[in-house]
Amino acid sequence: MFLSISTQHQPASDLGFLFHKHPDRVHKIDLPFGKATVYFPELSDERSTAVLHFEVDPIGLVRGWGGGGNSHGDIYVNDRPYVSSSLFSLAISKAYRSAMNGVSKERPELAQASLPFEVYIPTVSSPSGKASIIEFFEPLGYQIQIEESLLDSKFPEWGQSSYFQITLKNTLPLSLLLRHLYVLLPVLDGTKHYWVHHDEISKLIEKGEGWLATHPARQRIVNRYLKNQKDLTREAVSKLSESLGELPSSLPALTRAPNLNEVRMSRVAEVLKDSHSSRILDMGCGQGALIKELLKDKQFTEILGVDVSTNALKKAKNRLQYEEFTEQQKSRVGFKQGSLVYYDKRFRDFDAVALIEVIEHLEPERLPTMERVLFECAKPKMIIITTPNQTYNHSIEALGLNYMRHSDHRFEWTQAEFESWSNKVAEKYGYQVRFEMIGALNDDNIAPTQMGVFTR
Ligand code: SAH
Repeated sequence: MFLSISTQHQPASDLGFLFHKHPDRVHKIDLPFGKATVYFPELSDERSTAVLHFEVDPIGLVRGWGGGGNSHGDIYVNDRPYVSSSLFSLAISKAYRSAMNGVSKERPELAQASLPFEVYIPTVSSPSGKASIIEFFEPLGYQIQIEESLLDSKFPEWGQSSYFQITLKNTLPLSLLLRHLYVLLPVLDGTKHYWVHHDEISKLIEKGEGWLATHPARQRIVNRYLKNQKDLTREAVSKLSESLGELPSSLPALTRAPNLNEVRMSRVAEVLKDSHSSRILDMGCGQGALIKELLKDKQFTEILGVDVSTNALKKAKNRLQYEEFTEQQKSRVGFKQGSLVYYDKRFRDFDAVALIEVIEHLEPERLPTMERVLFECAKPKMIIITTPNQTYNHSIEALGLNYMRHSDHRFEWTQAEFESWSNKVAEKYGYQVRFEMIGALNDDNIAPTQMGVFTR
């Protein structure tokens, strides 16, 4: 895979300074997933060219860098070494780091200046075709030449290949050119060699500075860059709009009504707040939606998220960007693996325990153990339990003939069933319980979620 960048800005031999590389040498850069080489095959005052040549190490790719495919053959035999992709973007950002940041020790003013550049890439992967290349690059002022080819000239009936030879011409600062390529090449390709998580938003915003927010295809670029993960996309697009000073109301994602999950979390947080609880145990915290809500309020000084699933805990940390927390922030929130059906001393000494949409995931015969773990072992002043209200299910069109809302639910209780279980447990363990409905009511005045608030 290679990328050549030429300029005729005179003296064109300054190109070496712009790339921070001595043009008479060949520069080898070792990357965890392959080798990059930078050299200057053409160097004169009239025209100079820098080439970034990149070889993927297919074995290194498989060991820990992810092949982008998932069938067995795919991981060893794939197009990654030969096409523009997210790996190639990574190579660009490593090999041309200072140029991408717009710094040049010897020619600082040139690094910021708009210069005429010509870019040649022999294999741009674009499964959505030539039109996408034009859609993404043209609004940025590029003159584009695209060469298409047949998948196999011996078999014209197989149709066009999804790889294109492209030449781009534009007058712009080198750092902007590199940032365009960094974002748009993987967006065209569509495959990411790693799992996209929250950090990608800040990378995208940083690399998109000054061009992405106003790009007519911004939504599609963001969607594709973040692999259509709705939460991430929404956050990225709203950050981009903020950077333009757009009012949030211009964003459909932000004007929509809060969904049931959000309504539920904010109501639970409100009840916890009103009870003056400050140390909260979120049992079955899942991906951390309640923790996120609680972190907004300083009253909650200690929050522990517990889940049986380490995967859920990992996702929760990612979603909250836990690794970026300061030590002080980290002292406020913690995550532990644990189960509701085992006695565990770590569950003691909390003001309140929340079980949000969790009990319906337990086998009914485990409920008595869970009751003891919660009401006898943890024994906080307040326990909040929410669970789907089965009586509401006929109002959920998407359920069709399914009896329950989720394939992992072991049961869904009617209002009468939930209240009867709760009253019995409250009496047994010396708690009082009150009930509340959460979410918009249907025509029969039934809400989708029911909540029991137990107090000691
Ligand atoms: N409370 C979260 C997640 C609800 S999904 C929210 O409302 O968004 C149910 C969660 O309960 C899952 O993350 C699941 O892993 C967890 N869970 C299931 N059985 C559990 C058990 N025995 N102990 C602790 N967590 C459990």
